[in-house]
Amino acid sequence: MKEIILVKDGELSLKGLNRATFESKLVNNIKRRLKPLGEIKITRAQSTMYIEPISEDFDFEEALMRVGCIFGIAGYSRACVLKKTPEDIFEKAPIYLEKTLKKAKTFKVEAKRADKSFPLKSPEICMELGGVILSKFNHLKVDVHNPDVTVTVEVRDFAAYVRAEQLKGAGGLPVGTSGKAEILISGGIDSPVAAWMMAKRGLSLNAIHFASPPYTSVRAEEKVKTLLSKVAVYSGGINLAIVPFTEIQEEIRNKCPEDYFTLIMRRMMMRIACIVAGKDGCLGLITGESLGQVASQTLPAIGSTDSVCTLPVLRPLIGMDKEEIVKISRNIDAFETSILPYEDCCTVFTPKHPHTRPKPGQCEKAEEKLDIEKLIEKAINGIQYSYIE
Ligand code: ATP
Ligand code: MG
Repeated sequence: MKEIILVKDGELSLKGLNRATFESKLVNNIKRRLKPLGEIKITRAQSTMYIEPISEDFDFEEALMRVGCIFGIAGYSRACVLKKTPEDIFEKAPIYLEKTLKKAKTFKVEAKRADKSFPLKSPEICMELGGVILSKFNHLKVDVHNPDVTVTVEVRDFAAYVRAEQLKGAGGLPVGTSGKAEILISGGIDSPVAAWMMAKRGLSLNAIHFASPPYTSVRAEEKVKTLLSKVAVYSGGINLAIVPFTEIQEEIRNKCPEDYFTLIMRRMMMRIACIVAGKDGCLGLITGESLGQVASQTLPAIGSTDSVCTLPVLRPLIGMDKEEIVKISRNIDAFETSILPYEDCCTVFTPKHPHTRPKPGQCEKAEEKLDIEKLIEKAINGIQYSYIE
């Protein structure tokens, strides 16, 4: 029996006049993600999309997994395509749903009849198909209020579709509908989660990572790439810029007061990230900061880093506990990679007593011996780009 994937879009239905743009973005995202699996055709009717495999060898199970990771989709299900006749529906629906119905104790049938020329009305479809199912699966009972399985029949213009389970989609908005932003990615737990959260709100992603060889290793960079590939399952491909940061950190160590090392380092990161982001068409930065988590994440410290930024900084984890962050990290399969013990440039030259509450002007004074412009220019010239998917 021919199968298709039915997709219900999510918040799209709220978007009024923008709806068409959002929908076409979602269709393109679906096409891009499923293309490697074979040819497909997508049709739309009301708030449902029908993804129909064309290639013989289309990997249907993999396609279902991928659809589950596409933002902008509220729910999805697999359905079989039947002829638009009562005979075909009543004969084949119980066969198609056999596995699911055998596992259930109770069920109900729902019917939607978009094609009003179909000889049975919706309640009649429910009654008759319900009867057929009861006669084939003796153990089942009908429960219209809280059934284990809801069998849905949709009679549309060209065919009838039968499905059982509705799977929960990834939610959010289609990637790209909110523009593009630059995620500052470390090898830790937080930044991949922050990236995922903002992709969920419709941002496509570029990434920037600061590396300080030989203090940080090639394996730390590989770890960042692996983390981004986990995020890319949801966000689509990500351009990564790896910035050489060693000289800046050594200059900070040699020329700045120790208790300001971390703050100044973070200000340098933000300055560079804003320039790189602007060049690459990003509208903002994203970090994995969470209020109070470490010395550099107090409100005055955040204020001091914000003051050197020329783009808005999104901090989706700002009000979250570590436990909540870890839960998402596990869900997106990033956690096991994040806890691998490779050093990050943030842990190089960490002060014993970091300054946590800088007053306005203090950071500027602490960094006055640095040739900031020259250091930034050199770092940016040394950037290595790669594409992660
Ligand atoms: P994470 O778990 O994401 O590493 P963290 O709790 O360790 O975060 P910090 O090390 O203070 O916190 O970093 C705060 C944020 O700064 C990170 O979430 C990330 O967005 C950014 N960041 C830290 N180190 C780097 C780096 N080497 N390259 C790029 N961005 C970084
Ligand atoms: Mg970190």
